Amino acid sequence: MPVAAAGPRILLKRLREVMAEPENAQNRLNKIASLIASNMIAEVCSIYVMRPGGVLELYATEGLNPSAVHKSKLRIGEGLVGTIAAEARPLNVQDAYAHPAFKYLPETGEEIYKSFLGVPLLRSGLTLGVLVVQNRASRLYTEDEEEALQITAMVLAEVIASGEFDEIVAAVDADVTHVRSHRIVGDSLADGIALGHVVLHEPRVVVTNLIAEDMHAEMARLDRAIAALQEWIETMVQGLDVPRGEHREVLETYQMFAHDRGWLQRMRDAVRTGLTAEAAVERVHSDNRARMLRQKDPFLRERLNDLDDLANRLLRILTGQANTAASSELPKDAILVARNMGPAELLDYDRQKLRGVVLEEGGSTSHVAVVARALGVPLVGQAQGVLDIVDTGDAIIVDGSGGEVHIRPSPDIEHAYAEKVRFYARRQEQYRALRDMPAATLDGERIALHINAGLLVDLPHLTESGADGIGLFRTELQFMISSAFPRMDQQVAHYRSILEAAQEKPVVFRSLDIGADKVLPYLSQAKEENPALGWRAIRMALDRPALMKLQLRALLKAAGGRELSVMFPMVAEVDEFRRAREILEEQREYLLARGHQLPVRIRVGSMIEVPALVWQLNRLMELADFVSIGSNDLVQFLFACDRGHPRLAGRYDPLSPALLSVIREIVHAGATHGVPVNLCGEMAGRPLEAMALLGLGLRSISMAPAAIGPIKAMILKLHAGQLTEYMAPLLELPEHSLRPHLMAFARDSGIPI
Ligand code: PEP
Ligand code: MG
Repeated sequence: MPVAAAGPRILLKRLREVMAEPENAQNRLNKIASLIASNMIAEVCSIYVMRPGGVLELYATEGLNPSAVHKSKLRIGEGLVGTIAAEARPLNVQDAYAHPAFKYLPETGEEIYKSFLGVPLLRSGLTLGVLVVQNRASRLYTEDEEEALQITAMVLAEVIASGEFDEIVAAVDADVTHVRSHRIVGDSLADGIALGHVVLHEPRVVVTNLIAEDMHAEMARLDRAIAALQEWIETMVQGLDVPRGEHREVLETYQMFAHDRGWLQRMRDAVRTGLTAEAAVERVHSDNRARMLRQKDPFLRERLNDLDDLANRLLRILTGQANTAASSELPKDAILVARNMGPAELLDYDRQKLRGVVLEEGGSTSHVAVVARALGVPLVGQAQGVLDIVDTGDAIIVDGSGGEVHIRPSPDIEHAYAEKVRFYARRQEQYRALRDMPAATLDGERIALHINAGLLVDLPHLTESGADGIGLFRTELQFMISSAFPRMDQQVAHYRSILEAAQEKPVVFRSLDIGADKVLPYLSQAKEENPALGWRAIRMALDRPALMKLQLRALLKAAGGRELSVMFPMVAEVDEFRRAREILEEQREYLLARGHQLPVRIRVGSMIEVPALVWQLNRLMELADFVSIGSNDLVQFLFACDRGHPRLAGRYDPLSPALLSVIREIVHAGATHGVPVNLCGEMAGRPLEAMALLGLGLRSISMAPAAIGPIKAMILKLHAGQLTEYMAPLLELPEHSLRPHLMAFARDSGIPI
């Protein structure tokens, strides 16, 4: 008695009729159970619904003893039904008794039924219950029958989750993962704490229209949507559109899945059974999500995640909801949750309402992290599995300082964090009070404090923080968020608006630092074995000078009548610096010859990020007007330690005698040649590290705007001369880090760290 291909279609039609009848929830379930039983020629059909405490309760049955309804209960993992719920996959057995998981429930009278087929009632990857059919004769159900039951289960899950079954849903909701509190520890990518409500960056589409009226029309809709999806991926692969910061690998996986015959075939088969196109996508997607939740292998899980993304996109195409949440109405305390996103996408959100961001991916050097820091929005990355357990509107706390995320926090946690936020705000208040005080140490050393910036949105921080200027303007950010290469006039306008917004405060522009993790969506770059050591920054600029010429000319024009400071990134030898400087000079002469207004003064600097330069300091200082230590990269290259590698994070300490000695040497060379030295890596924004830098003789540092307050508070209590004396012998120690010694100094001197 295999189910004919038309089987589910007829059943779906009948189910639609039952759903349209005015009935109460219980009667409707009873009718559905008997409908399924007769359609599948089964002697038994039972519906189990998940109740609080992970208990599956028999809610309706055709064939079993009716008095067992609401009495028979199985825990998740218990019996065949509990096993199906626990594993979220079907179970098809010829002889239920012989199965090791079988649990006998005497009140049901099921002992006479041998064959057993059960499927989970899944919705958005959650198990809402289990649907079972049984027959007396011992046999395995066919694949068609299994598929038919799964399709029915999908409709049933929708019925259960729909509003009219409130009393059931409430029970279900009380148990599933989506209502429990969760804490996820990820990476802290942008500081700060935010309490708010979840907004899914890519909203999930909930399919409610399940049963097709016209199968051929649905097939055509599905095919059109698949074609649109494939086209979208091709566009991205060819780099014609702004990707969401996806890496090539992800795109290639997308491409592979979007043409995967098995996936496409399964969706078409589902339409053939009588589902709408979106229900067919959801049907196949639901299986995938369930598989994903079971998957332990991180690589496979990742791939299934890609497939999950694609299915979601396909659903959005089908339902016409193609946009991200940025275009919808946001709550006033929105916390974005996404797998990943590009910097431009983050900038699309209303800053007034955006409180925090949580990403399943994202590293500290990712562009979105740089932008989040610039916006002052707390960000936690590497929050694994977060998308599996959040829903739109859930309460959520992002602790960007500790790298923690609390989902549906308990009142205690919420209270503790609200207190923490108040404390944070009070501290910010105190820092604001320091704003107009000069940053001078107790022994009268004036320290220049600058901010790092990269976008126009950063500029208000310059005034708010009371910083002396912009010590590092990462020009590549504008390029990264554009969909095409910024034209000369756009660049000029951008740089001019930065200089204007900075008023008279100095701005140090860094020429394009692209390559490695900083990719331009419209610039195709060959895959490299070691991108951090690859064709990047000044190497690219010198080999293909057109880009750099254009940028330098734009900077010279923008700074007409003002002072211009430019520096070059990733310089490994003095000769590179000299050549870059020559290109700048050529551009200056070019503009001069054409009567353009030029900067009143041009200062040209070099970043010191590659250790080789440390052995050429004297030559470099003779040629440079200033230097800036890029400690992020300098640490990476000094220790041969990937700065974005999660397992290596914290392995070497910037407060090691090695790095500190190198910095001291650079400071010393600068002093000898009268060349100003600045440091603009992340360590400048951390009070203990910044204190050590001042102990080494640095008098100019540049950091994220939010760090200015705490750093100034440290400076006001520091006696720099004493620290220099204290540190001199420490640098000779064979220690992993001088952190404990420096902590002791700060504590003994009452310096706030
Ligand atoms: C650095 O390397 O320290 C630096 C400031 O540059 P970036 O972080 O942009 O590489
Ligand atoms: Mg760098």
